[in-house]
Amino acid sequence: MSLIVQKFGGSSVADAKSVKRVAQRIVDARIAGHDVVVVVSAMGDMTDDLLDLAAAVTDNPEPRELDMLLTAGERISMAVVAMAIRSLGYDARSFTGSQAGMITDAQHGSARIVDVTPGRVKEALAEGAVAIVAGFQGFNRSTGDITTLGRGGSDTSAVALAAALGADVCEIYTDVDGIFTADPRVVANAQKIDRITSEEMLELAASGAKVLYIRAVEYARRHRVTLHVRSSFNNNEGTIVYNPTEGQKVEEPLITGVAADLSEAKITVAGVPDVPGKAAQIFTIVAEANINIDMIVQNVSSAGTGHTDISFTLPKAEGAAALAALTKAESDIGFASLAYDDHIGKLSVVGAGMRSNSGISAKLFTALYEAGVNIDMISTSEIRISVILRDDQVNDALRRVHTAFGLDSQEEAVVHGGTGR
Ligand code: ASP
Ligand code: MG
Repeated sequence: MSLIVQKFGGSSVADAKSVKRVAQRIVDARIAGHDVVVVVSAMGDMTDDLLDLAAAVTDNPEPRELDMLLTAGERISMAVVAMAIRSLGYDARSFTGSQAGMITDAQHGSARIVDVTPGRVKEALAEGAVAIVAGFQGFNRSTGDITTLGRGGSDTSAVALAAALGADVCEIYTDVDGIFTADPRVVANAQKIDRITSEEMLELAASGAKVLYIRAVEYARRHRVTLHVRSSFNNNEGTIVYNPTEGQKVEEPLITGVAADLSEAKITVAGVPDVPGKAAQIFTIVAEANINIDMIVQNVSSAGTGHTDISFTLPKAEGAAALAALTKAESDIGFASLAYDDHIGKLSVVGAGMRSNSGISAKLFTALYEAGVNIDMISTSEIRISVILRDDQVNDALRRVHTAFGLDSQEEAVVHGGTGR
């Protein structure tokens, strides 16, 4: 007998019919002899609807009250899933995040889990019940308040519970069959990946793959939780995200997958005096505005002028704040001008096999050249290469690169609809 944590996303519990289907799946796992802990997201688009509701009432909702509001979504799911399981003749008990011991810091809207004390979950399991836990929410001990973990946070809730309970596997149920070599909505011949290391998954998630949230993958990597990402609409095996043990021989495909990200913009700080301390100054200002930057490029000084340009990418949503912060420091830093470009896209190729193979960048750049793409910025990690290009070229480039690296499958990928969550 094993202990399984199953997480169902919003699209898997979108209505009463889906809730019943999910309940049957949970019961099937019970019948197969497993202990089951379930983590649920809010039904369908409920979180967005609740955000709209708040926006209709005020421009500036109190973060504490917003968290109170949003956590209601998961609370509805957990109760109806528990009811549906009971109606099938099995014992089930629902718990809010705080009842389940999801202890977080006090950061409303993007709280981090600092401890998990799932005493009541264990009790329920010991009594033969299925424990249903509301995802995305926690509790801060010092304020005594309810928090949320950030959009998509239910994945993190599930992984954290799996780690705390020592579960054998954390199953993430979604509306696609697993992790694909590219987004099947863009690349019709994308293939499902059977197994992927958490290291590669982390790079893919950071590069724009939306099936798993990066914080959940980070948590799984740190706590060595094995994930199984699979569809709640069929019984197919999905994708196993695993943590190889030290020295374990892993089969390393050259390229595991390609990903695109259209959520970033680029800021260019032009005419920066090319003297020590300027980059430090610029990025301190950006950091103090709480802005997460991704890529950075600095040009060589243009001849004779002693000035240089520094460009960086950041989430579009944070563009205005970054521009404002830099403009305020214009005379202090002494740059000439600021440019903002929100029509960029990022394309990344990821694969652990890159470590031991040269020529990957040549192949990537050739494919991009053949697609008529002009590369704007480049950055690399040990197992990833990312390029910035025009946003309207991203999808076509993604298909070309997928083909160039031999990732195309013979069949078209099945997409069950929904948003990939
Ligand atoms: N319901 C929350 C959201 O939509 C959390 C989640 O789905 O994981 O972001
Ligand atoms: Mg959701």
